[in-house]
Amino acid sequence: MIQTIQPSGKARELKVDPIGSIPFALVHLAALAVVFTGFSWPGVAVCVFLYVIRMFAITGAYHRYFSHRSYKTSRWFQFVLAFWGTSAAQKGPLWWAAHHRHHHRHSDTDEDLHSPGLHGLWWAHVGWITSTKWNHTDYEGIKDFSKFPELRWINRQYLIAPLLLGLGVYGLGFLLESTASFGLAEAHPILRTTASQMLIVGFFMSTVFLYHGTFCINSFAHLIGAKRYKTGDESKNSLILALITLGEGWHNNHHYYPGSERQGFFWWEIDITHYGLKALSWLGMVWELNTPAPNVLSMGSKGNIRIETAPARPAMKGATLDDELEAEAAD
Ligand SMILES: [Zn+2]
Ligand SMILES: [Zn+2]
Repeated sequence: MIQTIQPSGKARELKVDPIGSIPFALVHLAALAVVFTGFSWPGVAVCVFLYVIRMFAITGAYHRYFSHRSYKTSRWFQFVLAFWGTSAAQKGPLWWAAHHRHHHRHSDTDEDLHSPGLHGLWWAHVGWITSTKWNHTDYEGIKDFSKFPELRWINRQYLIAPLLLGLGVYGLGFLLESTASFGLAEAHPILRTTASQMLIVGFFMSTVFLYHGTFCINSFAHLIGAKRYKTGDESKNSLILALITLGEGWHNNHHYYPGSERQGFFWWEIDITHYGLKALSWLGMVWELNTPAPNVLSMGSKGNIRIETAPARPAMKGATLDDELEAEAAD
């Protein structure tokens, strides 16, 4: 059942920002240009590929690493994760993670920037992210990562990767289009494409799907699905959202135990990001993947058990985020 929280005076002040929405709207318009270019199989293949690898970067890097530090890695791979994450065109890693930590501290309260119960579905899904009001990075809220100069740099230069990716996809399309004149596309019609089809379908449509897939967690994951744990907010578990987002749909599990690298707590809770991070750990790229405490799993396996949480809402279980940052500073 959808529970509606009465909007407060502050919540009613929130309005979609027409100026801030322009870049977001332009990306959507570019994707809609498919009505002029049409589809091609190479374009569709690139669209799916870029969706999966960039969704993995959002969930595995921006969310599970930079927001929650649910595993460890080296400094150079940390930068790779940050750069990879920027390719999704969702601003920089420090901006993203600081806002996400804020969400965990204040989820479904007046302070939350994207609570569908408080602010409505449209605001939670896209309204807040298109508002220039929250363009600023809260470096204080992400001190543990903002101490690295290379991360502060990529946090500002977050457009480099999407621009390079868009150009690369267009260039690949140009090559395939050129090869048609040598007969390759005639020999293998499945490779037939234009550069414009590659850019519009492969890059822009993929980016739009990626936006809405990611934003589903801010909106629908606090509206639809089942609640296993009592978390003091409206987070839910949903298989459909987990499939769309490579594992982020187990959002109630995640709000209860945010420090866990795994968000699907049981084998039947499909969590593709977890499988990817596990594979990276076998390659030695990441390590010390945090798991849920055994009592959390044993209680959760008994069904819809309501487990009270402490009043504080830490980004990592067992301590408030401020405690965590103080501990980090003392290291
Ligand atoms: Zn949430
Ligand atoms: Zn989170």
